[in-house]
Amino acid sequence: MRTESDSAVKILRMLITAVICAAAAVFLIFAAGVNVHADNDDTVSMYRMFNDATGEHLYTTSVNERNELVLHYGWTYEGIGWTGPVKSATPVYRVYDPESGEHHYTVNRQEKQALIDEYHWNDEGIAWYSDDRKTVPLYRLFNKESQSPVSSHNFTADSHERDVLKENYGWTGEGIAWFGVTGAIDSDDHPMTIYRGVDLSDIYSYQYFRSNHPEVVASVGSSDAALIRYFAEEGLKAGLKGKASFDQNRYDEIADKFARNGHVIEIDPGHQSADVDTSAMEPNGPGSSVMKMKDTYGTQGTYTGIPEYQLNLDISKMLRDALEEKGYTVYLTRENNSTAISCSERAQKATKDGADILVRIHANGGASSASGACALVGSASNRWIGGLHDESSRLAASILNHYCQTTGLKNGGVYDNDTMTGNNWSTVPVMILEMGYMTNMHDDYYMADAGNRQKMVGGIVEGIDEYFGY
Ligand SMILES: [Zn+2]
Repeated sequence: MRTESDSAVKILRMLITAVICAAAAVFLIFAAGVNVHADNDDTVSMYRMFNDATGEHLYTTSVNERNELVLHYGWTYEGIGWTGPVKSATPVYRVYDPESGEHHYTVNRQEKQALIDEYHWNDEGIAWYSDDRKTVPLYRLFNKESQSPVSSHNFTADSHERDVLKENYGWTGEGIAWFGVTGAIDSDDHPMTIYRGVDLSDIYSYQYFRSNHPEVVASVGSSDAALIRYFAEEGLKAGLKGKASFDQNRYDEIADKFARNGHVIEIDPGHQSADVDTSAMEPNGPGSSVMKMKDTYGTQGTYTGIPEYQLNLDISKMLRDALEEKGYTVYLTRENNSTAISCSERAQKATKDGADILVRIHANGGASSASGACALVGSASNRWIGGLHDESSRLAASILNHYCQTTGLKNGGVYDNDTMTGNNWSTVPVMILEMGYMTNMHDDYYMADAGNRQKMVGGIVEGIDEYFGY
């Protein structure tokens, strides 16, 4: 018997594995692409990176590693942390714990060797150098409140930042880690052109933007990290020019991508495999005395033998990829067939993820003559989601109409239905798309075909675009 706490442990394990994979990828980039750049003859800029998912700060001298992390691994570039010497007699070593996914930096050769020999950390070599004249101390701080699987260290040359973290946020000071050199931080040293996975260099130049928008510099400062953030999040909406010459179509394409990024979509691939016991009961709406099974196993292809839960998952993953490609932020309620998540929990996950809409992907079963797609929404008199009826219906009609246009499947219309637990617990516009009848020969074969699946997903994406006004 599977319990809720089993699934919580499992999700935590999956999360930790994902973190470790991301960190392992970081190591590969570092090892393959060390690209120390001197911004003048004897100093080097130290790029400071932050990982939202793990709370880890990472520091690198490599432009290549910095860019790859922002482009492909979800890291945020926080700007130049300090300026260091290109070389000195005191190397700072970088080691990596493949178990937790954490990086550590130290000038202490014995500490480094102990981590490698006794704790099986990986040796990632010399990361940078400490100033032998001990000009600018780098303070090491530790966040003991961190819930992350990697322990959160921060290194800063800013004694004010150090004091604020200690006094206001409960961080522990761990002394001086190493030393940098004096000299202004040079944001002209390979300024950042990538933000949240999108390369903006076609339409944005740091130097141009900084010189031509003094009002922005006055409000957010002149660092390359602050200015690209402003350009991507505010400037594109306001149509601010980011480069002397650029292609307007490319500008509009990137602006659309960042605009869509503000929309959060939860996709719920219906059901899960029979290995998961979902026979326990739950209320069919918040505070309801009507109890329903947590979930069922769904239907199955009469001709192809494909289970509905598998079809729903395959389409949902393709849909996620297509929506993310357009810039949307997307969550799935499950990513495999063995996740124990009830119908009410699916709806509550959408709320927790901050979703704007909940799109539930299902397929129908019935008489062999029944065919085509339809959509289900809560009625206007539904005691929980009646207030969402108009928006849910608009969403359902947009998706269903585009879906049927691109696929040629019969359009069965949008129906009111107040019995669906996964709809009734929603706090955002919610609809079920019944993609077709798995008990109908034409629909079953149609939905099994890879080329047709592209059309199905394309139609749903068009419907979501239309709902959000694109
Ligand atoms: Zn279903």
